[in-house]
Amino acid sequence: MLQIPCPWCGPRDEAEFHYGGQAHVAYPADPAALPDEEWARYLFFRDNPKGPFAERWSHAAGCRRWFNLVRDTATNEILEAR
Ligand SMILES: [Zn+2]
Repeated sequence: MLQIPCPWCGPRDEAEFHYGGQAHVAYPADPAALPDEEWARYLFFRDNPKGPFAERWSHAAGCRRWFNLVRDTATNEILEAR
């Protein structure tokens, strides 16, 4: 099982966490002004790289805090958590 290093609790089993998707996706400044296609792109389109990927995770069964993590999607190696 993957061990995820919570910045506040330390390493814990993956089962204690919820995946929150790609990190650093900015909310549109004026969402009402966006055409439907751009709104749909914001909602549903995410990168899917093979290699390092910045993600959001929640320690749902622990401290319940959100944090960013950089994980290599090819090897599951965790490169950074904060
Ligand atoms: Zn935690």
